Amino acid sequence: MSANLLNEYMQGVAARNPGEKEFQQAVHEVLESIIPVLERHPEFRKARIVERLTEPERVITFRVPWVDDRGDVQVNRGFRVQFNSAIGPYKGGLRFHPSVTVSIMKFLAFEQTFKNALTTLPMGGGKGGSDFDPRGKSDNEVMRFCQSFTTELFRHVGADTDVPAGDIGVGGREIGYIYGQYKRLVNRFEGAFTGKGVGWGGSLMRPEATGYGAVYFAQEMLATRDQSIAGRTVAISGYGNVGCGVTEKLNQLGARVVTIGDEYGFVHDPEGITGAKYEFMKELWQVRRAPAKEYADKFNCRWTAGARPWSVACDVAIPTAAENELSGKDAEQLIANGCTCVVEAANMPCTPEAVEAFQKNNVLFAPGKAANAGGVATSGLEMTQNSMRLSWSRDEVDAKLHDIMRRIHKTCVDTAAAYGKPGNYVIGANVAGFLKVAMAMMDQGVV
Ligand code: GLU
Repeated sequence: MSANLLNEYMQGVAARNPGEKEFQQAVHEVLESIIPVLERHPEFRKARIVERLTEPERVITFRVPWVDDRGDVQVNRGFRVQFNSAIGPYKGGLRFHPSVTVSIMKFLAFEQTFKNALTTLPMGGGKGGSDFDPRGKSDNEVMRFCQSFTTELFRHVGADTDVPAGDIGVGGREIGYIYGQYKRLVNRFEGAFTGKGVGWGGSLMRPEATGYGAVYFAQEMLATRDQSIAGRTVAISGYGNVGCGVTEKLNQLGARVVTIGDEYGFVHDPEGITGAKYEFMKELWQVRRAPAKEYADKFNCRWTAGARPWSVACDVAIPTAAENELSGKDAEQLIANGCTCVVEAANMPCTPEAVEAFQKNNVLFAPGKAANAGGVATSGLEMTQNSMRLSWSRDEVDAKLHDIMRRIHKTCVDTAAAYGKPGNYVIGANVAGFLKVAMAMMDQGVV
């Protein structure tokens, strides 16, 4: 019965979204978890909640023409997927990366819907971006691109409609250029974007929040086994915004981050990325957007080309880069090397085979929609501060973030137990996120 229902739903999703591999993968993962809920709630099936929830409310694609520094005209494609607004205005980041496709946008917006529901804040799910690559572009080129992108995007977003933020390739600089153009077009200073500069409506702690939140979540998971993060060796994969937040918090808590990497390979620094080395790592991406290998060259560490860091012995693995960066084989290797806790700080970084391997081997495994929700939760806190026209101190925001992460953890644990799968954070996160959105959709009728 369960398998039939899942197959039936997936056939429909595959037929309507042909070739959209990442989107189908994300939907499959959620539907697999929620089949028991649908069996308990025939009214959800009658109201076709799954069919509605897997269909984005709106998908916008647009042309983004701009002129490069040589005077040549360039054309990129822009997207905004407004997936679900049952519990609040669409909310989710913008990704600028050559790998961006409609499938990637839809998977991220779909995930975001459940992630945002878990934060306890009133935010629907959305995502956007472009196949534009900010690497190797001058500041002026990035600005011209952002202005052209916003010249179309602005009509679809707004503080009470859809509130974009950053993601891969979109940080403070890009949000600045996008917001500047938005404000010029609408002639209003409003909280239509998050991740803004702290001097003009941004929230303290937003840049660190995703990474800090993932570490808070790891602490909670380890505590269920009476363990602590202090003294642990941790492998991470990226060194952008999320990787830096994770490393900073782990250093504060006495853990040791021993790897970073990019699509070209990874660095192994067994002594740990601390002090001046951490400052160098931070500058590497956030200021210079330089390759990870520079760290290995500067500090005389081992550089392994063409591989991810999952072969390195560690207690905890925190993928911080991108989707499907940790395979089933990688998972087997981590387990063989003694890794007992895996936290998805990126979105869907572990393949389904990897997740299965972790769960079979009793590894604590946190899915991204729970573990990396601290970033968007702090965006929600930025929206609150904008509405109140005030700004909270760093300590206030951090305390709220910490509390939200504890609550998400508890929700996952309680929900997994209620559905007979204690300790299964995938089931806990998917079911709790789904129930919140599905019940709101039921209340609002067939829309
Ligand atoms: N891009 C981040 C995420 O994946 C943050 C989104 C936001 O702050 O709106 O959750």
